[in-house]
Amino acid sequence: MTIQNYINGAYVPPVGGRYLNNFNPATGQISGLLPDSDSADVDLAVAAAQAALPAWSMLHPEQRHDILRGIADGILARLDELAAAESADSGKTIRTAKTIDIPRSALNFKFFATALLHFSSESHYVPGQSLSYTLRQPVGVVGCISPWNLPLYLFTWKIAPALAAGNCVVAKPSEVTPLTAYLLGEICTAAGLPPGVLNILHGQGPEVGAAIVRHPSIKAISFTGSTRAGAEIARVAAPMFKKLSLELGGKNPNIIFADCDYETMLATTVRSSFNNQGQICLCGSRIYVESSLYERFITDFIARTNALKVGFPSDPDSDLGAVVSKVHFDKIMSCIELAKAEGGTILCGGHAVEVPGEGAAGWYIAPTVIAGLPIHCRTNQEEIFGPVVTIAPFDTEAEALVLANGTNYGLSATLWTNHLQRTQRFSAGLQAGIVWVNTWMLRDLRTPFGGVKDSGIGREGGWDAMRFFTEAKNVTLG
Ligand code: NAD
Repeated sequence: MTIQNYINGAYVPPVGGRYLNNFNPATGQISGLLPDSDSADVDLAVAAAQAALPAWSMLHPEQRHDILRGIADGILARLDELAAAESADSGKTIRTAKTIDIPRSALNFKFFATALLHFSSESHYVPGQSLSYTLRQPVGVVGCISPWNLPLYLFTWKIAPALAAGNCVVAKPSEVTPLTAYLLGEICTAAGLPPGVLNILHGQGPEVGAAIVRHPSIKAISFTGSTRAGAEIARVAAPMFKKLSLELGGKNPNIIFADCDYETMLATTVRSSFNNQGQICLCGSRIYVESSLYERFITDFIARTNALKVGFPSDPDSDLGAVVSKVHFDKIMSCIELAKAEGGTILCGGHAVEVPGEGAAGWYIAPTVIAGLPIHCRTNQEEIFGPVVTIAPFDTEAEALVLANGTNYGLSATLWTNHLQRTQRFSAGLQAGIVWVNTWMLRDLRTPFGGVKDSGIGREGGWDAMRFFTEAKNVTLG
């Protein structure tokens, strides 16, 4: 299958005529071609977006709401097809795509379709003197760039609020997982989205992604991806005074106190470690367990981890599918080798998995648990983004907090305890943008989402997203 860019409401080939191979990681085979776009394609997309902007930004909120709701419905109507495409591109199980990725993509549109109807701004009144009110106007043409781990889910998490706020969008999905973004074009057209309001370009980050970032008519960049690429984007966009939202990498701690609800914690920790092959920015990759619980936890956690089935993504019994690419497979395997070289003990996993039949040439890794490593080693400092966790005991609350905060990242943290005062103290002390207590990845889309330290700047979700995608203008009447 050869996919195309979606510009001005139509599918068009890349101006330069170049294409990249798309791989199915579950089979290791080429599944199709995608455009290798460049700045010429960005110019076309920006021109289309600029032409569409006046009408879209002035559209009555109810009409904008109806179109975005229509896109949400269109996504759900094609749930099976989109889930199959997402699985084929990323290696995730069909079950994950069907129950998490695609429903959430629809919800992103539904949520912001409703949000735009309720979006309001402040006014300030001084009796007898002045009335000030704040206009929240669309930024203009904005760029949205997303990664491969939750492809349509994170793509729409940016596009939906950008459109809801009245902007026109030039968007780029990951070149590793382009299929569902491609299909979104059809869904938008069918829902009545006017041509040029959303333009979807495919290709490589340093080429077409960088061209989006440096285009002078693109006024804001919403990016989710690696800290390395985020730093590069900030370097280019900051001197151009673009609005920037950067959702970057993580190395999230999972802190388990002995007074937690053990069964819930155990089941959730297996999920938070290995869901989507550990390729969720919110996965807990460093597990810290209070010493009195450590041996019991290790025994049970290893048993549960060994019971997980790594298999072909369409097999309903598979708990883990393939990791996203050969490059990523090699990176994760080299991280496991590094952990061994640093003195880590592999408690389970630590090897590739052969999946017979269709999956024979695919890229599969056993869920891996490593113990015996200090906080300052590279394994505990650098993001692996695969089915690999480290585990260590702690004795005191103070020690646990130092360990939890002991990396340059600060995206999320999970805390397991039933001690109320400790919950409050520890949550306040954690250097993270998102803290879960006795749960994991429970999302209320109204809440601010994002990280601190090297995990990024800015917050997505709810009013934060609507504010990011608008400019505030104060008007004072004397
Ligand atoms: P990546 O940074 O390699 O790529 C992300 C996107 O940016 C892709 O579309 C890519 O083509 C593009 N890109 C790369 N370099 C670019 C550049 N110089 N200019 C413009 N665009 C560029 O990340 P990835 O490997 O696709 O995704 C994995 C990373 O994403 C992990 O670090 C993970 O933690 C992070 N992530 C963060 C969150 C979050 O919410 N904080 C969510 C999911 C993933």
